[in-house]
Amino acid sequence: MASPDPSLLSLNTATVSKQWTLAQMIEGCARHGIRGIAPWRDKLAEMGVTEAARAIKANGLTVTGVCRGGFFTAKDWLDDNRRAIEEAHALGAHCLVLVVGGLPGGSKDLIRARERVKECISMVLPEARKAGVRLAIEPLHPMQAAERACINTLEQALDICDALGDGIGVAVDVYHVWWDPKLEQQIRRAGKKRIFAYHLCDWLVPTRDLLNDRGMMGDGVIDLPRIRSWVEAAGYAGMHEVEIFSERDWWRRDPDEVLRTCKERFATVT
Ligand code: ZN
Repeated sequence: MASPDPSLLSLNTATVSKQWTLAQMIEGCARHGIRGIAPWRDKLAEMGVTEAARAIKANGLTVTGVCRGGFFTAKDWLDDNRRAIEEAHALGAHCLVLVVGGLPGGSKDLIRARERVKECISMVLPEARKAGVRLAIEPLHPMQAAERACINTLEQALDICDALGDGIGVAVDVYHVWWDPKLEQQIRRAGKKRIFAYHLCDWLVPTRDLLNDRGMMGDGVIDLPRIRSWVEAAGYAGMHEVEIFSERDWWRRDPDEVLRTCKERFATVT
């Protein structure tokens, strides 16, 4: 299979979040010829959204997503999602990624938690549409169902999309969905219309931490070229965002080395 177009690589700022400020990440992307960036909102708040938007534009970067809205279990979820929509709009982001939240504290009612996600999204979707911001539900690996996201498969996410109509789609993150026996089928179902983002990293064996032990592409067991072939066959032509949370490895390295490795692995193993 041919390598992906190198100009499609995007950097999710989580990948070097411990080493760099957003300003340094923007410069880093420009220096390494990485054409896309997906900022997390803590970094945006630090730099200021207006200044971040200016610097991103000045360096000609595409904003492949803003991380993140969602967390519908939080007390201030409505205001927080409104602010996230404004920020994504200010950056001209391709989407606002939704990590939908898990079980409310003390609850065991997963069925109700999942219904609530749909209700909450339906409440913010009109504002997102008005602002021209697409909302991307990111299904998370089921090990995170209690604490971070009770939507765990593409199928569940797409059922919500189908119920809610336009302006809502999915972020396909290989880390969260690689194990799913229905993955190919659901990527096909999502198609160009619903795939708003594609996130890359790898699944390490063994995985030593539920959240912060993601691998660099090529260091784990995910068949990345195969999943890319499905995503491309579905009509997705957007960027490929590298998102690596790595307490024990990549967060401890020289960030320029991290970016160089991302580029090299993107070209050779994805
Ligand atoms: Zn992701």
